[in-house]
Amino acid sequence: MSMNLQVTIDKDSGFCFGVVYAIDMAEEILEEEGYLYCLGDIVHNDEEVARLRKKGLRIIGHSDLPSLKNEKVLIRAHGESPETYRIAMDNGITLIDASCPVVLKLQNRIKTSYDEKEKILIFGKHGHAEVVGLQGQTHGEALVFQDIAELDDVELPSKFTLYSQTTKSTDKFYSIKEELSRRGYEVKANDTICRQVSNRYEDLATFAKQFDCIVFVSGKKSSNGKVLFDVCKSNNERSCFISGPEELELGFFHDGEKIGICGATSTPMWLMEDVKQALEAM
Ligand code: SF4
Repeated sequence: MSMNLQVTIDKDSGFCFGVVYAIDMAEEILEEEGYLYCLGDIVHNDEEVARLRKKGLRIIGHSDLPSLKNEKVLIRAHGESPETYRIAMDNGITLIDASCPVVLKLQNRIKTSYDEKEKILIFGKHGHAEVVGLQGQTHGEALVFQDIAELDDVELPSKFTLYSQTTKSTDKFYSIKEELSRRGYEVKANDTICRQVSNRYEDLATFAKQFDCIVFVSGKKSSNGKVLFDVCKSNNERSCFISGPEELELGFFHDGEKIGICGATSTPMWLMEDVKQALEAM
């Protein structure tokens, strides 16, 4: 017997323009040439990566780049550090640069700060591709931290410039800024959080409250996925995080409930539609 769930997909969820741009660029070349190398996962979503792999996308790591010669390599929305551009030039590699314009602008701002001899702190996830690219603008000199507690035992300069990875939480960024000022530092804070993510907080909070439960669809590696899921969870206790329809748990839902589906900026609409179908078939 069917559970008769009433399922609605959030129309504002799904790819941000940066991801749309990178995937469109990849698909165009794949159609013409049959294959294309991409440095790192094109998007933090395994299902979408698998779809593009079938079309000929070849994901490579940074350690593979030096052995590649005279090929085309796509740079994804997260951007790259100057080192990658240098290796590509040495090897005759044509970079298809799909770095998101928002990330490129942030890279330029950090580079300018660095050239002006400012001390730089970046609030971002250690090892995240975007953060590696940002730190690369400063020859690795910028201090990256993902939690204010990491700064407790570090001797900081009395005056510095604070930047943020584009997908961090704005609330956290401003509370860090205040805490650092309270500790007596002169902080020049640049809120460089992408509005494609932060503008979703309010919409998602409103969306999450309208349903009995929320199914949030996202890859586990997506930074904004974690932030946006927290928004759902704090507005609707019955929110669950899944990466695909196979992770849906029957026991979580009750007959006739209203279910809202939403996702990260890296979640494809087709995947949310698959989840909707699976819920409707329960
Ligand atoms: S979240 Fe913002 S910065 Fe990141 S790829 Fe999308 S549009 Fe660009």
